[in-house]
Amino acid sequence: MDFERLFRADLEKLKEDGNYRVFADLERRAGSFPKAHHHVDGTDTQDVTVWCSNDYLGMGQSAIVTAAMHEAIDKCGAGAGGTRNISGTNHYHVLLERELADLHGKEAALLFTSGYVSNWATLGTLLGRIPDVMVFSDEMNHASMIEGIRHSRARKVIWKHNDLDDLRAKLAAADPDAPKIVAFESVYSMDGDIAPIEAICDIADEFGAMTYLDEVHAVGMYGPRGGGVAEREGIMDRLTIIEGTLGKAFGVMGGYITGSTALIDWIRSFSSGFIFTTALPPTLAAGALASIRHLKKSEMERRRHKDNVAKVRLGLTRAGIPWLDNPSHIVPVMVRDAKKCKWISDILMDQHGVYVQPINYPTVARGAERLRITPTPLHTDADIAHLVASLSSLWSQCALARHVA
Ligand code: PMP
Repeated sequence: MDFERLFRADLEKLKEDGNYRVFADLERRAGSFPKAHHHVDGTDTQDVTVWCSNDYLGMGQSAIVTAAMHEAIDKCGAGAGGTRNISGTNHYHVLLERELADLHGKEAALLFTSGYVSNWATLGTLLGRIPDVMVFSDEMNHASMIEGIRHSRARKVIWKHNDLDDLRAKLAAADPDAPKIVAFESVYSMDGDIAPIEAICDIADEFGAMTYLDEVHAVGMYGPRGGGVAEREGIMDRLTIIEGTLGKAFGVMGGYITGSTALIDWIRSFSSGFIFTTALPPTLAAGALASIRHLKKSEMERRRHKDNVAKVRLGLTRAGIPWLDNPSHIVPVMVRDAKKCKWISDILMDQHGVYVQPINYPTVARGAERLRITPTPLHTDADIAHLVASLSSLWSQCALARHVA
């Protein structure tokens, strides 16, 4: 078999379909977020303002976080030195797991190397080990949940996105004796819509199902202590498992689940995605710990962030640029054309120093292509005005329709 030929043919097809990914070669500069250097063709550099980062609150460059990481690397060195079971558990991991359990009002927490791994490994283990279990998965769930479910080979039922009637009908039609898990997210990252968590828990309770909630895009952002949408709604105790990431609002890297002592001990004991991999470096755990502790007390970042989201939306509305209304912090600017979306993104970067990655199929449906804008508390009014003016001029050049305010 000519493997090279196969690889090249697959890549050509991606390019033809406009789905080939090109990474922006960025250098984030500590202390100057959301500004970054963009390396162009490996030689020139360009100063850009980043408008599509998931470091939603800029904590990845907060002096509080970087100081904690410096201290930890000086104290503990670079790596964890092993898996959690074989010499890799550092005191920072223990403190961080306690902090996360407290954040979500749960008895215990367990760290993974990313949010992806936490979903994949936890769902894979639950569904792989509980006899006859069935999973009820929201159709818009993230790839990490889908892959974990697929890997387990458990019986799966996909329910329509955020559709309570469909969920109830599908649970009612299932084998009443089968153990059941309902898996869903709070904030969905592309449309920015939010699940009716309490109503989903009510339905899950009717059928004795366990609930698994991914709060990856909500932790640090919602709730009085940054515990997510479930904290804001005062319903954290209704969820069997709350999963989150340390890589978005907390600004570092890593993933976790929280739940009862027995559940966490069980996943810790049986999940190969937890057991057979090197633990997170102590520096990352220390940085995440500092970030979480800070955001538990400080409302300032969340307040400024909300203000900036509102300012961006207002600016876009005034310019007649259509954005998808939603109750979260994500501002999807709908282009609805793959080529124009990519073109606008390219010109924004090259000529306006504005970086927004285009989001095309398969991440979103064809015809729903967009620029996913994520304002942060650190964007200035001048940044916002420049973003809106730049988008507005490209909107005209592309002859895209405007909304009349
Ligand atoms: N869940 C959701 C809903 C996500 O959007 C993502 C990443 N974009 C993940 C999980 C994975 O988290 P991480 O980036 O920490 O691997």
